[in-house]
Amino acid sequence: MEKNDFKIVIVGAGPGGLMAAQVLAGAGCSVAVYDRMPTPGRKFLMAGRGGLNMTHSEALESFISRYGASADWIGPCVRAFPPDALREWCEKLGHKTVVGSSGRVFPEEFKSSPLLRSWLKKLGELGVTFHFRQTWAGWNDSGEMIFQDADGKTDFVKADAALLALGGASWPRLGSDGNWVSVLLHEKIPVAPLRPANCGFEVKWSERLVQRYTGQPVKSMRATFGDKSVRGEAMVTEKGIEGGAIYALSSALRDEIEKNGKAILHLDLRPDLSLERLTEKLELPQKGQSRSTFLRKAAGMSPIAISLTQEILHKDPRPAESPASLAALIKALPLTLTAPFSLERAISSAGGICREALDGNFMLIEKPGVFAAGEMLDWEAPTGGYLLQGTFSTAFAAAQGMLLWLKGR
Ligand SMILES: Cc1cc2nc3c(=O)[nH]c(=O)nc-3n(C[C@H](O)[C@H](O)[C@H](O)COP(=O)(O)OP(=O)(O)OC[C@H]3O[C@@H](n4cnc5c(N)ncnc54)[C@H](O)[C@@H]3O)c2cc1C
Repeated sequence: MEKNDFKIVIVGAGPGGLMAAQVLAGAGCSVAVYDRMPTPGRKFLMAGRGGLNMTHSEALESFISRYGASADWIGPCVRAFPPDALREWCEKLGHKTVVGSSGRVFPEEFKSSPLLRSWLKKLGELGVTFHFRQTWAGWNDSGEMIFQDADGKTDFVKADAALLALGGASWPRLGSDGNWVSVLLHEKIPVAPLRPANCGFEVKWSERLVQRYTGQPVKSMRATFGDKSVRGEAMVTEKGIEGGAIYALSSALRDEIEKNGKAILHLDLRPDLSLERLTEKLELPQKGQSRSTFLRKAAGMSPIAISLTQEILHKDPRPAESPASLAALIKALPLTLTAPFSLERAISSAGGICREALDGNFMLIEKPGVFAAGEMLDWEAPTGGYLLQGTFSTAFAAAQGMLLWLKGR
């Protein structure tokens, strides 16, 4: 590696900032990483708690389609630094990757901490320096970056170029709290409001359902909204419903609620039985059994699925009048969702720095020499490794963009 004279500041020691630091330090720049937290990668570590799903093994075209309306923006970055490159990067740090049964890709150790340790060691070898407990608060009139420590002491830092990777605003106690939005808006940089993504939703349950089923999963069901349908699990919470199948539909559900004040989600509580087969089962004689016992015995439904069905029948008993209409209800149980859970509880954020605020190199048009990457940009994706891959790929693109800009100056 040939050293150059470029001094780079990166704000945010999450996966986006650290990936950019590696690319830039690897190209010979002096890189200083600043973060408001006392240690790096807090959300990355949390993401690894249930298994660090860093990317997905599906075909690239299908992978890129997961970025929805932003696919034509994020797609080229993913092509330039695709899932295979991410796996190779991980393996070069000494951590093999494995593909789970659903096609999701994990480091062999499953958790983030061993990978983060190796990564920080590598960054140390490349000469990257770290400055923790430093909150970035914007620029002064001389264009220096303003950092404040926990005691209120202010530092001004000058750099040849800077890269912001400040994340969204979910799980703010892990460091990314979205406070940067007001700083950028003040600089007239367009930012779309941060909104919950991959989140649960409020449902008005009965007292009885809350008492009996809070924290319990509805296993093996199919959730449908509009033309999208997802097989998976959901969890009843005191205020509503969350879990993998709900997260997968959450952007469309959130947008519908924003437009119409509510969204109707349909749950198929017996997805392995066709409507006809379920109707046949419900045509068996009830023989004086309670409806709950009958549904359990005849339709093989779980207690929580039965209670969800009863919840709807209490409001409108008509579907119980015939086996066919009862089966239709069980196959498409309507749940009225009234609001997404708060952004703090969401897995990720939608919104962020608007695409038109950046040039093709991920540089802020209003702030030449300042680049941005990761979850703080206005794209969203479902869980399944798409969030981290999008973060890594945009960070790679922004770091490459910065190198081009520095060389062309
Ligand atoms: C519980 C949970 C599980 C997840 N699981 C997965 C998963 O399995 N797979 C997946 O793909 N994604 C997952 N994600 C999402 C993924 O972790 C994020 O998309 C990713 O961390 C975003 O990276 P980033 O670098 O853009 O931002 P972040 O990781 O949020 O890092 C931003 C950094 O910037 C710092 N910062 C913010 N503001 C300032 C400031 N003003 N001054 C200084 N520093 C600042 C923060 O302290 C933080 O360290 C999960 C998220 C959560 C919450």
